[in-house]
Amino acid sequence: MHPTIKREVLMSRFLSERFAEIEPYTPGEQPQDFDYIKLNTNESPYPPSPKVLEAVNAEETAKLRLYSDPEVRQLTQEIAEFYGVRPTQVFVGNGSDEVLAFSFLAFCDADHPVCFPDITYGFYKVFAQLFCLDAQQIPLQEDFSVRVEDYCDCGRMVVLANPNAPTGLSLSTDQIERILQTNPDHIVLIDEAYVDFGGESCIPLLGRYPNLIVVQTFSKSRSLAGARLGFAVASEELIEDLNKMKFSFNPYNINRLSILAGTAAMNDKAYFEQCREEILSTRSKTKAALEQLGFQVLDSKTNFLFVRHPDLSGDDYTRQLRKKSILVRHFSQTRIKNYVRITIGTPKQMETLLEATKEILAIRRQEL
Ligand SMILES: *Cc1c(COP(=O)(O)O)cnc(C)c1O
Repeated sequence: MHPTIKREVLMSRFLSERFAEIEPYTPGEQPQDFDYIKLNTNESPYPPSPKVLEAVNAEETAKLRLYSDPEVRQLTQEIAEFYGVRPTQVFVGNGSDEVLAFSFLAFCDADHPVCFPDITYGFYKVFAQLFCLDAQQIPLQEDFSVRVEDYCDCGRMVVLANPNAPTGLSLSTDQIERILQTNPDHIVLIDEAYVDFGGESCIPLLGRYPNLIVVQTFSKSRSLAGARLGFAVASEELIEDLNKMKFSFNPYNINRLSILAGTAAMNDKAYFEQCREEILSTRSKTKAALEQLGFQVLDSKTNFLFVRHPDLSGDDYTRQLRKKSILVRHFSQTRIKNYVRITIGTPKQMETLLEATKEILAIRRQEL
């Protein structure tokens, strides 16, 4: 059985023709039991801060009869304080996916196209289709790095995940700055979903570049994927543009409990640091162990490793791990079909992964 659902096959005669060809995003598998070691969608292996549990209490749950704050003031204020910007420079979305959707909606149209790498977060392509945009997919270099020159003076909105997914590679802020300088009349959107795991944030560049939007999420480094929280930091004007989209679509986009959860998570810096350091240390040990087993492992600045083994196809490795109740992510795109993306879990989960991998390789060797 293949776990992913192909959504495009069935359609009614009522669906607008402009969506006849749309290929929706295929999320990683989300089993609703805990029978798996889940290393397929880059969530944190650690629970949210204990302060989140205190904040989301019975009293607050009783207030669910009331609408949430459409201005999301409490959380916006906390994010602004954390990053040293004004609250008017922060926009909170229902996951960074929503922030990205509002950005594509606000800043692109038939005359304002977009570009992004051929290998990157799959949702960019879906948004481009959804909003009927001309999207140029610029091939990454042979080593999967972004060639900065490809994005200089490109006459389009630029969307870059930095660090990139699923490669894990990152650009320096100096490199991003060249892209910003050479595209003064176009938005440069930097998706920093993984920046807390060793990347360099572009937030300090905001004062100098009115065309910059930085997008981050609570889903990875803040252990709140299920709360659906993401945010943009940009100039006041760009944030107001995003607010126009939101207030024309879903003014109460953040629910009451998520506002509380996000505020508490952002406030608990010590816990955030502790989780992040744990993941960085587990990442370096796991990388070394996989290399010992003959894997090629890209240099990761994220909470995942992008790996390939000369004796094992990506598809085969993924399926063998699944039989052992370990979920990882495989992508069918030709350039990366021999790779597998493995989320960094707890040290114990990584030990289990390594043991399973050794068994799979031993059997594979017998076959060869
Ligand atoms: C996980 C991820 C997102 C989506 O995050 P949500 O906030 O959960 O919607 C966006 N961009 C990239 C590159 C991601 O990996």
